[in-house]
Amino acid sequence: MIRIISLDMDGTLVKSRFVDKVWMEGMPMLYAEKTGIDFSAAKEYVVGEYMKIGSDHLEWYDLLYWINKFGLDIGKHEILQMYEDEIETYPEVQEVLDRLSENYDLVVTSNAAREFMDIELDGLSDYFRETFSATSDFREVKKSPLIYGAVCAHMNARPFEVLHIGDHYHYDYESPLEAGLDALFLDRKGERSGLEVVGDLREAVELIDGFM
Ligand SMILES: [Mg+2]
Repeated sequence: MIRIISLDMDGTLVKSRFVDKVWMEGMPMLYAEKTGIDFSAAKEYVVGEYMKIGSDHLEWYDLLYWINKFGLDIGKHEILQMYEDEIETYPEVQEVLDRLSENYDLVVTSNAAREFMDIELDGLSDYFRETFSATSDFREVKKSPLIYGAVCAHMNARPFEVLHIGDHYHYDYESPLEAGLDALFLDRKGERSGLEVVGDLREAVELIDGFM
């Protein structure tokens, strides 16, 4: 019997535009201003430095690390606020959270850093009992089965009482299944098919209403 629904954030609730702007426009622009080089040269350098670290390391996700690395005179909240207006949820999110929250406790399980979660979920925070950041709360770069186990433990739930929904096949679908949770794979591009694949969150609600 499912009683908790866990949702991924980026690509599931919130479009990726905001995050892309912060890393691919804001950071290079500030570096260009500081050094006097043009934007495209700054972007090439900054992205090259991101790639040297790579997404397997915690620093990749850590705004303050990059601000310090590039010697920028800005706080992590300020750089996020520069693009606050770009935060956009998918069109069905409000309606779906209204419906799901009638019957389930909702949580967010993301690998985004805490400061991104706070600003991206600002308008939705009333829906969620808890929000979990793999990188900030558990110091893990990817949502391993252990992360899902920790989320269940934190919620005082058995794995089979929790269903996770997200848009990364491995980290949002295979990984929670491995931890004993239920899971739905959100495939907004419509590339996969299967009983536990949904094209948007409205389809997820229909499936949940149908079999639980
Ligand atoms: Mg995602």
